[in-house]
Amino acid sequence: MENALYMKDSYLKEFEAVVESVKDDRYIVLSQTAFYPKGGGQEHDTGILICNGEEYPVVFAGKFEGKISHEISKPGLKLGDKVTGKIDWDRRYRHMRMHTAAHIIDAILYNEAKALCTGNQLGIDKSRIDFSLDVLDREKIQQYIDMANEWVNKAIDVKIYFLPREEALKIPGVVKLAAVMPPEVKELRIVEIPGIDLQADGGTQVKNTSEIGKISLVSVENKGKNNRRMYYTLD
Ligand SMILES: [Zn+2]
Repeated sequence: MENALYMKDSYLKEFEAVVESVKDDRYIVLSQTAFYPKGGGQEHDTGILICNGEEYPVVFAGKFEGKISHEISKPGLKLGDKVTGKIDWDRRYRHMRMHTAAHIIDAILYNEAKALCTGNQLGIDKSRIDFSLDVLDREKIQQYIDMANEWVNKAIDVKIYFLPREEALKIPGVVKLAAVMPPEVKELRIVEIPGIDLQADGGTQVKNTSEIGKISLVSVENKGKNNRRMYYTLD
C-alpha cells in the first residue's frame, strides 16, 4: 500500500492524484490517496474529490483486492482525470484520537489484567473495546481508564515507522490482532507509544498522546467471560 499516504502522514488533509480506474461511474481508484479505507476497527474517511472545479463527494472508502476504492455519490470522473482530494478532517481527527486512546486502553487491560483485546470499533461519539477477562468489575475498569488518562497527560510522542516483516515479528506482542495482518506485506508499520505500547498497525494516529484529551468511560457490558465490552468517549 505504498500509495496509501495516510500510512506515512496521518495529518495529510489534501493531496493530488490521477484517476486509475472507474467502475460503475462511482467506484474510483486513485494513483495515491489520503483517504483511510474502512478496516482494522477504524471507520472510513469521507470528503471530496475535485476535478475541473467540480466536486465529487466521497461517501465511502474501502479496500478491495488490495486497492483503495473511493465511492463517489455523483458520476462524471474518468480514467486519467487529475483530481485534488480533501478529507473531512473533523471526522478523521476524531478517529485518530479514538484510535490512539484504544491502543493505550488495550495496553493497560493487558498489563494490569492480562486481558486480551478481541475487537475494537472506533466511532465518532463513542468507541467500543471487546476483551476477555475472568472477573468483570466496573470499578476496576474505571481505574484502568484513570491510568490511561495518566498516560495521555504525560504528552508522549507517538512514533510511526516501518520494519521488515521478519524483524518486526521478533518483537514480543507486536501483532495484537493476528487476523488483520496480511501475509504478503513485506514491511510492517509499527505504531509505538514509548513506555506503554508497540504494535503493528495500519490505522491513523495522533502525534502526541496529549491530543487525545480526556478519556471517559461510558459503559461496561458483560457478554460472557470471553466477551466483555466497554464503551468510552473523549471530552
Ligand atoms: Zn490500532
